[in-house]
Amino acid sequence: MRIGHGYDVHRLTEGRSLVLGGVTIDNPKGLLGHSDADVLLHAITDSLLGAAALGDIGTHFPPSDDKYKDASSIELLKSAYKLVRDKGYKVMNIDSTIVCEAPKLLPHIPMMRDNVAKALGTAADMINVKATTEEGLGFTGRGEAIAAHAIALIEAAE
Ligand code: MG
Repeated sequence: MRIGHGYDVHRLTEGRSLVLGGVTIDNPKGLLGHSDADVLLHAITDSLLGAAALGDIGTHFPPSDDKYKDASSIELLKSAYKLVRDKGYKVMNIDSTIVCEAPKLLPHIPMMRDNVAKALGTAADMINVKATTEEGLGFTGRGEAIAAHAIALIEAAE
C-alpha cells in the first residue's frame, strides 16, 4: 500500500462556470484556470500521482500546452489514473476536503463522489468528499478562492 497527498487552490472570478468534482454548480463566480479549474479533481489527481511517485498534474498536463485549455478535469483524472494503473497500482480509497465559504456544497457532494468513482472505475463508497468553510478567515473565507485537499491510498494490483 502507498499513500499520496494533493492540494490545490484556484481563484474565484466572474464570467467563469463553477465546476467542482465534475459538477457544474450555479454560482455568480467560477474558478479561474487553464482547464475547467476543478480544484477538487486537481487535488485528487495529485494525491493519486503522489501515491505512485509519478510527480504532479502540472508535469503530465502542463498549462503551457494548448491541448489542456478548458480541458475537462475528469479527463485529466482518468489520464493520470491510467499512469497509476500502468505502474501496477489501483486505488483503494480517497478522502478529500473542499475549503469554500460559499455556495453551500452539501447537496452536490453525492454527485461529486459518483463522478470520481466512475472516472476511477471504483465504488462511490471508496470516495469521500467533505466541505468546510474557514469561518470568514483568509483567502477562502473572503471568497477570493476555493481550496481542496485530498489523500489517496493505492495498492499493488494483481
Ligand atoms: Mg489546479
